[in-house]
Amino acid sequence: MPELPEVETIKNELLPHIVGRRVTGVTLFWERIVRQPSVKEFCSRLIGQRLTGLARRGKYLLFSLTSGEVLIIHLKMTGSLLVGQDSSEPPKYTRAIIHLDKDINIFFRDPRKFGVMRLVEDADSVVGKLGPEPLEAEFTPQLLARRLTKRTAPVKAILCDQNFIAGIGNMYADEALFAARIHPLRQGGSLSSEEIEHLHRAIQQVLWSAINNKGASVDTYLRPDGTLGTAHFQFQVAHRLGGKLCSVCGTPIERIPVRNRGSYFCPRCQPES
Ligand SMILES: [Zn+2]
Repeated sequence: MPELPEVETIKNELLPHIVGRRVTGVTLFWERIVRQPSVKEFCSRLIGQRLTGLARRGKYLLFSLTSGEVLIIHLKMTGSLLVGQDSSEPPKYTRAIIHLDKDINIFFRDPRKFGVMRLVEDADSVVGKLGPEPLEAEFTPQLLARRLTKRTAPVKAILCDQNFIAGIGNMYADEALFAARIHPLRQGGSLSSEEIEHLHRAIQQVLWSAINNKGASVDTYLRPDGTLGTAHFQFQVAHRLGGKLCSVCGTPIERIPVRNRGSYFCPRCQPES
């Protein structure tokens, strides 16, 4: 699933192609990709507007429009946004096309059809409850410590909770916990202040590193030009099964379920107690 670094890469690489462009049409091959408002209203309100900006909040993309409304896209499990020309053949699994002037198309490609688009007047109605952005100045070790106080859930599950911290999912939670040498099942409230500082630094490091490598193409993620990201080549534990060894100590990487999500970790570098 695309997480913060993948969505950030899409934002960065889509932005120069679309800002200032006018929406000239919408083609839907899968109508249920439009969650809000009705398909008819979505299209009629969107067409004719200019895209004035593109931002990311958590794993959401927010396209601002001349009317003040916001087009919000969530890529969910398998979505990508590809940029191409109007004459180009839609890529396989394209569920929607947003046609722009100057011969530009945004292709919403989504093999598993979980992705959604919303057109709203107030973005906060969708993203208002998200937790802090981990790469913003507001996210400090002190804030992380405060939010972890008395939490009894496994720290891995807490990191994947979008209302706790925005943008982190299965892959980068595993990577950050490995980098901080913290077992995924540790209770959030049990971390020492030193461990919280390590975790804070690890979260920022793994996310920045993945952004610099244009996201991880472990699954279906593509950059807007259709090429792959390379962040997964830096992964130490995430998706490393099949006899993969810890790069630090040589112990085989293990996988355990944490709230039904597979979690990869090194049992020696990340002891449970
Ligand atoms: Zn190890």
